[in-house]
Amino acid sequence: MALVALRNVTKTYPSPERNAEAIVAVDDVTLDIEAGDVYGIIGYSGAGKSTLVRLVNALEPATSGSIIVDGTEITAIPERQLRGIRLRIGMIFQQFNLFNSKTVWKNVAYPLTVAGRPKAEIAARVDELLEFVGLTDKARSYPDQLSGGQKQRVGIARALATSPQLLLADEATSALDPETTQEVLALLKRVNREFGITMIVITHEMDVIQSIATKVAVMDGGRVVENGDVFEVFSNP
Ligand code: ADP
Ligand code: ADP
Repeated sequence: MALVALRNVTKTYPSPERNAEAIVAVDDVTLDIEAGDVYGIIGYSGAGKSTLVRLVNALEPATSGSIIVDGTEITAIPERQLRGIRLRIGMIFQQFNLFNSKTVWKNVAYPLTVAGRPKAEIAARVDELLEFVGLTDKARSYPDQLSGGQKQRVGIARALATSPQLLLADEATSALDPETTQEVLALLKRVNREFGITMIVITHEMDVIQSIATKVAVMDGGRVVENGDVFEVFSNP
């Protein structure tokens, strides 16, 4: 069974205007994301990519359809159990979403602190993660003392803190210059290869898909209009 299985998933939002039609952000999406995949989701702004990821992370409920993450039907379980699922999912963002008032070290420790892990375990894990992303010497720095690429490396370390099976990257390189983008993508490739972490990579940039993804879904107007191996999807005449 796929690590993430979406079956006829639809998400609608009420229209901002009275008596107008609802906004269909995600429209009848069926997808299988296998363990170990780096699965790209590409499409223009408004295509429904971010909404799809919020559904997988159980940040919002789907309107209809079913979402199964690692064998658990997340559309059918109580909030208390969703917290356990979210610990198995890491997320990184375009604007990094770091806590500016916390040091790099505290940012990376945060998910472990929230999860109530013992102090010694947290310390060992944070040191290991900072070494992995090459930021050991920045442990006591604050986010605004870092470059964009360094901030995203902190974001990646924080996302990996709870040893998730799945990493969701929402336009994670869109705020970075081309060179830094390639550095961050190279780090994400290592995360996939060395730890076997499955990734869903949302982007509007074809370059990102070409350099990191093995599979891709093309979204347009809430629908997946094409999907499969990157090579096959983009070799069409
Ligand atoms: P993107 O770059 O992914 O298109 P947006 O700027 O559209 O992002 O959306 C940013 C945030 O605003 C998201 O959390 C999204 O859920 C929310 N959002 C987007 N469109 C609307 C809308 N029409 N009404 C309310 N919230 C929205
Ligand atoms: P993408 O990530 O591909 O840019 P989104 O998932 O952000 O697309 O948005 C898909 C559609 O759903 C857009 O029309 C957007 O305005 C709408 N939308 C997203 N979030 C919300 C929200 N919280 N409330 C209302 N409409 C939203």
